[in-house]
Amino acid sequence: PGRVVVVGAGLAAVRTAEELRRAGFDGELVLVGDETHLPYDRPPLSKEVLRGDRDDTTLRPREFFDENRIELRLGTAARSVDTATRTLTLADGSELGYDELVVATGLRPRRIPGLPDLAGVHVLRSLEDSRALRAEIVPGSRALVVGAGFIGCEVAASLRARDVDVVLVEPQPTPLASVLGAEVGELVTRLHRSEGVDVRSGVGLSEIRGDGVASEIHSDGVASEIHSDGVASEIHSDGVASEIHSDGVASEIHSDGVASEIHSDGRVASALLGDGTEVDVDLVILGIGSVPAVEWLEGSGIELDNGVVCDGVGRTSAPHVWAVGDVASWQLPAGGRRRIEHWTNAGEQASVLAKSLVGAEPGAAAQVPYFWSDQYDLKIQGLGAVRGDDTVHVVRDDGRKFLAYYERDGKLVGVVGAGLAGQVMKTRAKIAAGAPIEELLAAV
Ligand code: FAD
Repeated sequence: PGRVVVVGAGLAAVRTAEELRRAGFDGELVLVGDETHLPYDRPPLSKEVLRGDRDDTTLRPREFFDENRIELRLGTAARSVDTATRTLTLADGSELGYDELVVATGLRPRRIPGLPDLAGVHVLRSLEDSRALRAEIVPGSRALVVGAGFIGCEVAASLRARDVDVVLVEPQPTPLASVLGAEVGELVTRLHRSEGVDVRSGVGLSEIRGDGVASEIHSDGVASEIHSDGVASEIHSDGVASEIHSDGVASEIHSDGVASEIHSDGRVASALLGDGTEVDVDLVILGIGSVPAVEWLEGSGIELDNGVVCDGVGRTSAPHVWAVGDVASWQLPAGGRRRIEHWTNAGEQASVLAKSLVGAEPGAAAQVPYFWSDQYDLKIQGLGAVRGDDTVHVVRDDGRKFLAYYERDGKLVGVVGAGLAGQVMKTRAKIAAGAPIEELLAAV
């Protein structure tokens, strides 16, 4: 049976390992993950964890991995892969051979190049990110959330639950416009405004400014001392370059420090928006999307194009290499190729991939993808590969709950609802069948 190595130890990796055992794979299974935690779940990070209702989101206890003979190599990044010799190189320089390799490295948050490194500015992908943000939440403080995608909207809702004043800015015409279209985006805007969020659409972030006051020096050094006999002695530091001028007669610096960082741009104090307005803020959260974590695959020969290019069962362009989850761009049953950044998809793909890998009949990937997002008391749910440019028919709107059908070429391709789970779920078969939209609209 040989050895399957899965790189990444998130949801898609764990599901792949589980599904491989279920499909009868009896060989060695190794999960290589760069985070140190046991594999954990991410959806609660922008919801319960941020609100302080929960801290542990571990997917499976350690015993589960032992019982299923799944070896966890945590705190270890994969640095490169040689597909000819089927060898991975890990961050510590060691090598790990494989018979089959599964890429499940997910995404990394997009950052804004050139933004100063100020305290109080956050992204949200990992448990550490969520805990760091939570630690800075103070009721009555002011936050700017940049980007009103799912994560930005959820963060805004969680911050409101902790009595933080929130400004939510989105360069698109509405929140969620690029994924769900502007019609549903308007309903989401209304929801957030009703909860006291200052939603500003069509405007982005231009600049953030620090207070220039707080400045810390962290040194891990064992012994670190400064002796100065000087009369006038100053330290200039702009965060990157740092100099010490001393007029002293005898002046010396001894430092055994191994790692030593200087933060000196202070804490974020205000943000300048694209329309010229300035907002005073205590916190900034960047929710401006994510990029596939594929830097370690550059030069490997594995085809990359906004993620790892795959066929309909997860095979990449390189023999014995597969990809799954957020990082993977699978061929869709209906044609085309797409990455799907949703929780349910990771498990569905894992099942198809595992069966294919052991040579069993894979079955088809789910015809009708599902996602959800929790904002305030509402669960927003979607079925189908909906797009921002589909024709959207809002068929129910009671001021808070809503239901919308998505049409492409006269056919129903998806549905999105808020607080109407039953209504959403019962359209599944019609979406799979590509029912004529008139049929649905006539039944409303
Ligand atoms: P990940 O969970 O990102 O796991 C990938 C792992 O690989 C990470 O631990 C990463 O550090 C590691 N890695 C990266 N590079 C390397 C390397 N070179 N070597 C070793 N390890 C590496 N989806 C929904 O449907 N509904 C929701 O409500 C929802 N909420 C979410 C909220 C947040 C805050 C986030 C971040 C995501 C949310 N999602 C939600 C999306 C869902 O969590 C993802 O679809 C899912 O986590 C994808 O799993 P994955 O295993 O592909 O990637």
